[in-house]
Amino acid sequence: MLICSKCDTRYQADQPRWRCDCGSYLHLSGTGMFAKADLHTRPQTLWRYFESLGISNRDNIVSLGEGCTPLLEDEIYNQPVLFKMDQLCPTGSFKDRGTTVMVSKLKEWGVRHVVEDSSGNAGASVSAYTSRAKIQADIYIPGYTSGGKATQIALYGGNLVKVPGTREDTARAVLEAAESSFYASHNWSPYFVAGLKTVAYEVAEQLDWRSPDWIVLPVGGGSLFIGVYLGWRELVEAGYVEKMPRLVAVQADNCDPIYQAWKQGLDTVPEISKREGAAEGIAISQPVKDKDILQAIRDSDGIACTVTDEEIWETLRLLARRGVYVEPTSAATSAAIKQLSADGIISPQDRVVVQLTGMGLKATDKIVEHFGN
Ligand SMILES: *Cc1c(COP(=O)(O)O)cnc(C)c1O
Ligand SMILES: [Zn+2]
Repeated sequence: MLICSKCDTRYQADQPRWRCDCGSYLHLSGTGMFAKADLHTRPQTLWRYFESLGISNRDNIVSLGEGCTPLLEDEIYNQPVLFKMDQLCPTGSFKDRGTTVMVSKLKEWGVRHVVEDSSGNAGASVSAYTSRAKIQADIYIPGYTSGGKATQIALYGGNLVKVPGTREDTARAVLEAAESSFYASHNWSPYFVAGLKTVAYEVAEQLDWRSPDWIVLPVGGGSLFIGVYLGWRELVEAGYVEKMPRLVAVQADNCDPIYQAWKQGLDTVPEISKREGAAEGIAISQPVKDKDILQAIRDSDGIACTVTDEEIWETLRLLARRGVYVEPTSAATSAAIKQLSADGIISPQDRVVVQLTGMGLKATDKIVEHFGN
């Protein structure tokens, strides 16, 4: 069942639909819960949690073997951490978790043509999975998108549409195109969010069903943050784990609407002015699901914080020295550890999971520009 986040209208999930008739985004409800006892016979992909993902028929699964990424014991800024290594997903970012479920649902619905907009990683992911499912996709990207990311999208087979102007201009252009196609959006789709619940399931399984104290996540559109929150909430409700971990929402200080809203105690994001920076993957000034993100922070007794570009670059270098190569956006969560531990919010006794999201090779142009070669 798909339920409107605003007016509560309910829709059967057997017809293609990406938003409510009132214009608001939808929640997916009434999915089942996987059984722990079944897991030992299941494949090492996120489809091991099939019952929780909202797909009716296994024949519709469109997969590249995503999920089941390592949980690496490490240390950053003298704080022991567990890195969830989602930069190792098939197209180089965690977006594949959401995309595999969203595109499987598109196949189940018989959708033949979609549009999507992206600053890079979601575009690559949707292009890869739609090609595999033989669904046509027009991928709208801002004109400034780096050459490497644009080429990856095009090579998978998606039809690139470059939009001049800002990321927000691209979002407006695709909304117009969505009038005559289906909007397969990582920022709108409730199935995309369902796929991201698997980050929580995996971490729980990898920790032998013990909850971490803290989970540190980047927030752009918030699908990852909301997905991880919902996943842990389901685990708690099923009695599979004891407690809800506290969630940290990390943004870059040059685009920090969620941090501003959290600090001011608001339910929705205020208008902010945004500057371009290192963390392009989380530079979203008006996240569609702002209410859900802020509620997830509150419900988990979490916090929001920001990092500077300087801290991001410094942390990217430190991670690389430990053999972990991520793109700048993905270094933001590790960068936040410095402040969180200096402020005494997290301590060395805490079990802290730090989410990594995108492979360093994704952003070669930008990294070369910063460090030289
Ligand atoms: C998309 C993306 C994010 C932000 O994820 P949201 O679900 O939009 O909050 C963070 N890091 C990377 C590398 C991304 O591609
Ligand atoms: Zn509605």
